[in-house]
Amino acid sequence: MSRPVKQNFIRPSHIEGFPVGPQFTAGHLADTNAGWRTFRPVVNHDTCIYCLRCYLVCPDGTIFKDNGKIAVDYDYCKGCGVCAHECPKNAIEMVKEQL
Ligand code: SF4
Ligand code: SF4
Repeated sequence: MSRPVKQNFIRPSHIEGFPVGPQFTAGHLADTNAGWRTFRPVVNHDTCIYCLRCYLVCPDGTIFKDNGKIAVDYDYCKGCGVCAHECPKNAIEMVKEQL
């Protein structure tokens, strides 16, 4: 799966042109993380059951499948921790960034 690509937001001319839902497909993200994230989500692939709940709740659409495993695009993840909070298997740990 290809990584999200930064795109300038172009306001749709009709409401049907706006993306909907809790997260967007790759390509709608406005900008890369500028380095202010304090914690990053790390997936434990031994306990992950691939339910994709983290993918559904991520507000920035940064979770994707890479070779059948859950992965996070850290260029866009803001470290909010929603994915870790909502994971039914506690398979995501928020690890402090090394600054
Ligand atoms: S929510 Fe947890 S168990 Fe489900 S796919 Fe994400 S990391 Fe895996
Ligand atoms: S920490 Fe927030 S932005 Fe990063 S992957 Fe999890 S839900 Fe998405």
